[in-house]
Amino acid sequence: MKAAMYHGPEDIRIEDVPEPQAGPGQVKVQVEWCGICGTDLHEYLDGPIFCPPPGSPHALTGEEMPVALGHEFAGVVADLGDGVTGFSLGDRVVVEPYLTCGTCARCREGRYNICDVLGFIGLSGGGGGFSEYVVADARRTFPIGDLGTDVGALVEPLAVAYHAVRLGGVGPGMTATVFGSGPIGLVTTAALRAAGATEIVVVEPADVRKKKASTAGATTVLDPTDTDIVAAVKELTGGRGTDVSFECAGFDTALAQAVQCTKGGGTVVNVAIWGHAATVAMNDLVFNEVSVIGSLAYCNDHEATIGLLADGSVEPEQFITGRIALDDIVGAGFHELIENKAENVKILVHP
Ligand SMILES: [Zn+2]
Ligand SMILES: [Zn+2]
Repeated sequence: MKAAMYHGPEDIRIEDVPEPQAGPGQVKVQVEWCGICGTDLHEYLDGPIFCPPPGSPHALTGEEMPVALGHEFAGVVADLGDGVTGFSLGDRVVVEPYLTCGTCARCREGRYNICDVLGFIGLSGGGGGFSEYVVADARRTFPIGDLGTDVGALVEPLAVAYHAVRLGGVGPGMTATVFGSGPIGLVTTAALRAAGATEIVVVEPADVRKKKASTAGATTVLDPTDTDIVAAVKELTGGRGTDVSFECAGFDTALAQAVQCTKGGGTVVNVAIWGHAATVAMNDLVFNEVSVIGSLAYCNDHEATIGLLADGSVEPEQFITGRIALDDIVGAGFHELIENKAENVKILVHP
C-alpha cells in the first residue's frame, strides 16, 4: 500500500510499504481522510522532534525513521483482529492515535496522555493516517455513526480543544479569553461556545484569522497590534477579567497578557507547545491567585468530542480549507500550509 513516509526535514516520500494486519484486539481501518497537523509541519520543517531518529527506536514500536506520518484520521473498519467485538466491517470510525505502555504510574492513574513513553500512531512508528490502512487497538477506536469521515478527521484536533476546555472547568455562562486563532485557537473557541461560554474574547492580529475566530464563536475579537488587550478584556468583563484564558500562541507577551486578563482565582490553560522557556511575572500569579495549567492532547475525550459534531454544537466545514490526494501531500499540503498559513486551517488528505 502507499504511505507518506518521513525521512527527515523536508523529505517526505510516498512509498510502497507492507499493508498492516489486525492483531488480537486490533481494528484495521481503511483511511478515508487524514488532516495535516501543525505537529507534522514542525517535523517537516525542524524535525525530527517526535519521530524516532535512526539509532533511537521508539520504546513501544521499536521503529525508527523513516516512519509513516498522519495522526488525525478517520475511515472505515476493514478487518477485525481476534477477540474484537462491537464493530462491523464498514463502520465509520476515528482513532485516538496514542501508543501507551499501560504500566507506568501515569497510565495506571488513568492519565495515559502523559504516559512515560507516550507515542503516537503517525509519528512514532506503528503506521500513520497518510496511508491506505492503519491498525489500532479496538479500545482506542471510536464509531462516528453517520458523520462523514472528513468530519471524523477533525475529531482529533477538536478533542485537544475539548480536553483543554474541560481542564479549564468551563461551563455555561462563563467567560474566556483565547490567545491565538491558528487551528488550535479556532477549535478551542468552538469548544468554548459548545461548552456554553457566553463571552469569548479572541486575541489575534491576522485579518483572515480574525474572521475565522468570529465564525468559530468569538463574541469579541481584539487585535494586539492596535489594542491594549488587558484593558479591553477588563472593560468587557466589568473590571474582573475572564474566568479562564487559553494560551494557544506560544508567545511571552500572550502568556503575560493571559495571566493579567484572568480574574482573581481564575485559570490560564496553556495549550501551546513552546519553542523556548517562557518569561512570566510570577507576582502576577501570586497577587491574584491565578493558576497556570498545562493541557496535553486528550484523555478519555473522544466520545464527547464526537458528540459535539454529531449534535451540531460545532460546525465542522469552517475548519476544512483543502482536500487533496496523497500523491499531492508535499506541494498542495505541507507547502500550501507553510506559504498560506493564515488562510488555512485543516487540509485533509485522501489516501
Ligand atoms: Zn494533530
Ligand atoms: Zn505509560
